Amino acid sequence: MPIPRLIIPVEEDQLLRILWDDDLLADYPLSYLRGWCPCAACQGHSGERHFIKADNPQLSAINMVGNYALSPRWTDGHETGIYTFEYLRTLSEQLASENAAKG
Ligand SMILES: [Zn+2]
Repeated sequence: MPIPRLIIPVEEDQLLRILWDDDLLADYPLSYLRGWCPCAACQGHSGERHFIKADNPQLSAINMVGNYALSPRWTDGHETGIYTFEYLRTLSEQLASENAAKG
């Protein structure tokens, strides 16, 4: 599994940029990242993932969890989302295909 080499919050563009060690450069809009928060509070236990719309989410910090995940803290205090590297890669593929669909 690729791991992040650089993690760069880009405040002016409201996104989190990750350079992976396989050279993929992925930009995650903050609203997208927050919307797909994988924590139980956001997702419940139905098994199906859904998007939680948040108004203008802002990062206050982002921490590594072991060597397998990132945990963002949001300015509204939400910090229970553990985004595994695998999940982040899934999100970046999902973003790329959504962008391709939009043209
Ligand atoms: Zn959450």
